[in-house]
Amino acid sequence: MAKKKIGFIGLGIMGKPMAMNLLKAGYSLTVYDIRPEPVKEVVAAGAAEGRCSEDVAEKSEVVITMLPNSPDVKDAVLSKHGVLDGAKTGTILIDMSSIAPLVAKEVAAKAAEKGVEMLDAPVSGGEPKAIDGTLSIMVGGKKEIFHQVEDILKVMGASAVLVGDIGSGNMTKLANQIIVALNIAAMSEAMVLATKAGVDPEKVYKAIRGGLAGSTVLDAKVPLALDGNFKPGFRIELHIKDLQNALDTAGEVGVPVPLASGVMEIMQALKADGKASDDHGGIIQYYEKLAEVQVRHQS
Ligand code: NAD
Repeated sequence: MAKKKIGFIGLGIMGKPMAMNLLKAGYSLTVYDIRPEPVKEVVAAGAAEGRCSEDVAEKSEVVITMLPNSPDVKDAVLSKHGVLDGAKTGTILIDMSSIAPLVAKEVAAKAAEKGVEMLDAPVSGGEPKAIDGTLSIMVGGKKEIFHQVEDILKVMGASAVLVGDIGSGNMTKLANQIIVALNIAAMSEAMVLATKAGVDPEKVYKAIRGGLAGSTVLDAKVPLALDGNFKPGFRIELHIKDLQNALDTAGEVGVPVPLASGVMEIMQALKADGKASDDHGGIIQYYEKLAEVQVRHQS
């Protein structure tokens, strides 16, 4: 069966390597971003350049969006010269951004009016896994649509799991983001405590990583903290966005989320301290400032 023509909108930290992997897998791609630099790079690798989101949709059977937040997805899909202006009946829209579940449902309803089917398919794994094509993809939408694009998702991800109806992908991502934020905060609190108490943090990390406290977060973020490297990665401001969506959703559903609320305040303090564009591993800097100690290599 011929490979579907794909449109890709949003070539940032995540979108650019995801688009590159689709090109490498032999898909023909039309790409667009409001910033020209990443478009040039992906076009140099073999993609066609779209003039706008509408143009991308006109030239594609499947359109993927990878944008920062709900308003950006609404803008790229619903506004004039957006995806729905160019999409034909039968086009499949896969929004892989992390957005509010309610907005995913709202955009899908508008898409359906034009005969466009939508999946919400946010990802976890960050830039390294976007580059390797080993993201975890959590999908909401109709089973028959999921199966039509599963091969495309598997190029970008090690796993793509259909979790339920439209919106479920982003609901799953909110759960993921609470777990990741709390893990980073727990790691930060513990490593700052050990360091302040005079124990070498690198040795603490090596001693505990194989036990129950070991985690993907520990392995990804402690080495960066030891180097004092908070280059994003996943920016604190984007994690604030996800936690805000989690708190809003928790309010709507009637579920108290005391720990997520607490980490949100820590992230807001870091933002006020000028660190919104740091990697979320930079949460440790909040604790370091309070304790007046830095978790760094000692030799
Ligand atoms: P990013 O800010 O690096 O990239 C977003 C891209 O979208 C930018 O290039 C921007 O110019 C473009 N853009 C914004 N509005 C646009 C519009 N209307 N039309 C066309 N292009 C537009 O963000 P990112 O880190 O790549 O994250 C993208 C999404 O993936 C976010 O929802 C984020 O929460 C999620 N995510 C990020 C990571 C990570 O580690 N960075 C991990 C998992 C999920």
